[in-house]
Amino acid sequence: MSLSRTTRCGVAVFALTLLCEVGWCAPATTPDSCIALRKHGHKTEAQSCFEGLTKSTSAYFRAEGYWGLEQYDSANEQFRLATQAPTGGALERVRWGMLLHERFNNAEADDLFNEALQRDPKNARAYLGMAVVSTYGFDNKAAAYAAKAVELDPKLTEAHELLAGLALDDGDTEHAVTEADAALAIDKDALDAMAVHAAIELLADKDAAAEVWFGKIKAINPGYGQGYALVAGQLEMHYRYEDGIVYYRKAIEADPRLWSAHSALGIDLMRMGQEKEPLEQLELSYDNGYRDAATVNSLRLLDSYKNFVTFKDDTTILRMKKEEADLLRPYFDAELHKIIATYQKKYKMTLPAPVQLEVYPDHEDFAVRTMGMPGLGALGVTFGEVVAMDSPSARKPGDFNWGSTLWHEMSHVYILTMTNHRVPRWFTEGLAVHEEGQAAPEWADRLTPEVLAAIRQNVLLPVEKLDRGFVFPDYPEQVIVSYFQAGSICDFIGSKWGEDKLLAMAHSYGELKTTPEVLKTDLGLTPEEFDKQYMEWLDKRVGKTAANFNEWRTKLKALVELDKAKDYDGVLRDGPTIVALYPEYVGDANAYEYMGNAHLKKDDKKGAMADLKAYEKTGGENPGTLKQLAALEEELGDKAAAAATLNRINYIYPVRDEELHKHLGELWLAQGNFAGAIREDAAVVAMKPLDKAGAEYNLAQAYYAAGDKAKAEETVLLALEVAPGYRPAQKLLLELQPAGAKDPTDKK
Ligand SMILES: [Zn+2]
Repeated sequence: MSLSRTTRCGVAVFALTLLCEVGWCAPATTPDSCIALRKHGHKTEAQSCFEGLTKSTSAYFRAEGYWGLEQYDSANEQFRLATQAPTGGALERVRWGMLLHERFNNAEADDLFNEALQRDPKNARAYLGMAVVSTYGFDNKAAAYAAKAVELDPKLTEAHELLAGLALDDGDTEHAVTEADAALAIDKDALDAMAVHAAIELLADKDAAAEVWFGKIKAINPGYGQGYALVAGQLEMHYRYEDGIVYYRKAIEADPRLWSAHSALGIDLMRMGQEKEPLEQLELSYDNGYRDAATVNSLRLLDSYKNFVTFKDDTTILRMKKEEADLLRPYFDAELHKIIATYQKKYKMTLPAPVQLEVYPDHEDFAVRTMGMPGLGALGVTFGEVVAMDSPSARKPGDFNWGSTLWHEMSHVYILTMTNHRVPRWFTEGLAVHEEGQAAPEWADRLTPEVLAAIRQNVLLPVEKLDRGFVFPDYPEQVIVSYFQAGSICDFIGSKWGEDKLLAMAHSYGELKTTPEVLKTDLGLTPEEFDKQYMEWLDKRVGKTAANFNEWRTKLKALVELDKAKDYDGVLRDGPTIVALYPEYVGDANAYEYMGNAHLKKDDKKGAMADLKAYEKTGGENPGTLKQLAALEEELGDKAAAAATLNRINYIYPVRDEELHKHLGELWLAQGNFAGAIREDAAVVAMKPLDKAGAEYNLAQAYYAAGDKAKAEETVLLALEVAPGYRPAQKLLLELQPAGAKDPTDKK
């Protein structure tokens, strides 16, 4: 629970307050002097300094005193009194806001900073507070607020320190150094500025240089765990989770009471697939009052693990929710092994340890798993050799393709392992997007309207700045656009220089080369030359479509009207032009589906099949439409295509659809794909259908056809257990057993 402005403290504090108000308290030193003592590691002196403050006649001083003593409720109450007093102004509100921020209440903290600015519009510390809160809210205003703080008070050390950290988040080392140095020029003991310097050195693999900075921090305050924690956060930010763990441990070693570091360590260890120590660390922080959303949610998730099952083999660890494991495991297991076999060859490496895949049917659990916070938009996330992703059941049918997501995430596993996590975001994301299209052409990244808009407005980023589009987007769609751009850059490199060149680039990044160096070494181009060639290549592929966009949109709107008016001749007349203007569009209200429907209305099944096939090939993923296509393919005699289409739905929405599995099982049994038939019939059984006997019987037939008599007998007996008089099952059992060996209803 977080601290709130309205929290009231106990009577004792009121009594003391009254005593102080009438002058019973000893005069105390200032809050700044106590904070300085603490900063320099003089713990005992700081403690008595803060105690002294609590006896002050000033409510504000008392607030700072209680805060220093970690008596947060009392501090809160004193801040309330301080802001009510006629003298209470901006300072009291800013400091109260910082307390609330520290106690997990950013919303009210922000209110207080705003109130402070109403009283003093030039209050640099209020802007700093807003910047600090903003770093937790992902609204990207942190840097702007911090810059405003510096503008109002160029000597505000903490604002420079914050700017240094933000620049490093952004991968802008140069700016990070400038800001850290600016902080140190104002205050030679600026500990967080030193920590930023240490992080910069570690990120460049200059461990000895980092140690020099840690040495400086230690000389000032050996108990300053926050410095290590700041470094750990930067390592995490740059995918170096294992190293992050090392530095959170150092933070705790320096300051065993740094509960935020205990919590962060627990969450990082969870990401690495551990359970025991994370539980200990998170409970420790929780029990000591550190109860931010990430800590609470992560503890909740650890508790929910009892509802999961884990399957292990030599190369994989698969963790799934109990109730869907029987159904989904065969699909995920097979795909995961296929991916490992493919990447092992392609990336020319074997993973040092089994890869752990966790599949979450509840998207909020997944979000907690990955960020410590709910509300994340992603579908999958990779931490070292652990991949966490949504289960197909977590999303609306057609919302996402677990198959392509898994190929994407597994590419990260290989690339991050191969480069020891030293690879820029744009490259690892771009390569993963590229791999989706390599695994199946219809999984290639979509040229969505947002992407087309960005191309038309000429706002694609230069390759050197592409990371920004992921981390600090300038407009809401820029993340999606950057995924597309990064993916198509890798498509371009793969098509022009070959797939092995992408691998060579990954290795160059592993050697800590920068993007300009990698482009020079592996492609022989400067970033500017590369951008030029890429833009030319992209323009050839999509330039026309981008130029067509407005015409396409107008015409598509008219098509929707024609469909509404049931003018199917009109739909079929105009549809092909619309598809030609923007063939990649398979989102809501696409021309393919309107044309398919119009053909059906005119009883032209062949025409409808052709429309829907084109939709499928282009990447259309509406399960209902794909089922319709499969039915047409079957009806028109192409049963192999029908089975292939149904199997595509297995990658999109294999849950809650008995009919899909049953029918695909029948088709594959008839086509002699026995392994496929077994998987599909087993899926029906796993869904606990009403006709359990029928489902078991179908599965037994598939086993029998595959030549596995033992499994066939075992399964047909299960059918007879449910329905002893089930004639086809009795017949199959007789066939399976030597003549007269057994009474078919005799249970083992
Ligand atoms: Zn990714």
